[in-house]
Amino acid sequence: MIKFLDLQKITQSHAKEIHAAIQRVIDSGWYLQGEENARLEKAYAEYIGTQHCVGCANGLDALIWIFRAYIEMGIMSPGDEVIVPANTYIASILALTENGLKPVLIEPSLETYQINDSLIEAAITKRTKAILIVHLYGQCSYTKKIGDICRKHGLKLVEDNAQAHGCLYLGKKTGSLGDAAGHSFYPGKNLGALGDAGAITTNDAELSSVVRSLGNYGSTQKYVFKYQGRNSRLDEIQAAVLRVKLAHLNEEIIQRQKIARYYIDHITNPAIILPNVNDWTAHVFHLFPIRCKQRDELQAFLIEAGIQTLIHYPIPPHKQECYKDWNHLTFPITEQIHQEELSLPISPVMNLEEAGKIVDVLNHFF
Ligand SMILES: *Cc1c(COP(=O)(O)O)cnc(C)c1O
Repeated sequence: MIKFLDLQKITQSHAKEIHAAIQRVIDSGWYLQGEENARLEKAYAEYIGTQHCVGCANGLDALIWIFRAYIEMGIMSPGDEVIVPANTYIASILALTENGLKPVLIEPSLETYQINDSLIEAAITKRTKAILIVHLYGQCSYTKKIGDICRKHGLKLVEDNAQAHGCLYLGKKTGSLGDAAGHSFYPGKNLGALGDAGAITTNDAELSSVVRSLGNYGSTQKYVFKYQGRNSRLDEIQAAVLRVKLAHLNEEIIQRQKIARYYIDHITNPAIILPNVNDWTAHVFHLFPIRCKQRDELQAFLIEAGIQTLIHYPIPPHKQECYKDWNHLTFPITEQIHQEELSLPISPVMNLEEAGKIVDVLNHFF
């Protein structure tokens, strides 16, 4: 059986260093807001290429804190609109509605699965305050056009970088391209902890200090509360694990890209649509999404052959019960992606032999 993602094997590949890191934290007697967090934040800011990094409890909180900070800073108010791709994971949307902001859903391009930048300008109104781009599947979603639109209309550009740690746009990391970025270190992400964790990166010193205080009860100094915050801290054990994993991230991305290249070079079945890759540095293959009209049959065929796949995602946000008011809306491209998408196994612990077996099965499907 080839698993979709073998987390046990990934952790195993760094076992010695991870055990040592966890042991170090246990022995230190200091479990929150300590040296491990400070060092992770410094290393991750350096890696992404921003002046500031603030650790928090998870990726959803990272996005929630960015928009909440803009509200606290008087830059946005509840009821303002934020442009966001319609085919994103639910967390991007939840981060907006949690803050009383109105998501304005925009169709993606069927070639890249990223927000279609030619549809953005027509959706801008007097209440539009930001564009939230999502580097979905690990592919860079930023375009020069998006940057130009933000400058022209005075909009904040926020990046959801949960799936794209290490991804580049013309040599700059995603997560450093806009005004602020939210990152998730959920175990299955390219840079994953052994539990929940997340971070915010930005070059905006004020935003950085507001998000830091929001995640720590709204406190600016001990027992002094400026905002109605929450407890959203990244614990020292996860920070220590993440420092180990960060040091191996680049080599792991290269292995993901190797598997992806093998798939692209060897899958020849005309019923399968492969991802478009124009720039190999701009895709870190958190996922390897293919499309197929007979997606469900293909998934069953693969299971039969001992190959696990997942669908990202089966139901788009506007068709979810939690957003009942949008259920009548139609986004044909988004819905087509949700009906046809299938994610093949891809990970830094997969080898070309396994990829070969998967390709062989795929090429025999009709
Ligand atoms: C995983 C993910 C998140 C949320 O991250 P958590 O750490 O699970 O809260 C947000 N956005 C996208 C696109 C994601 O894939």
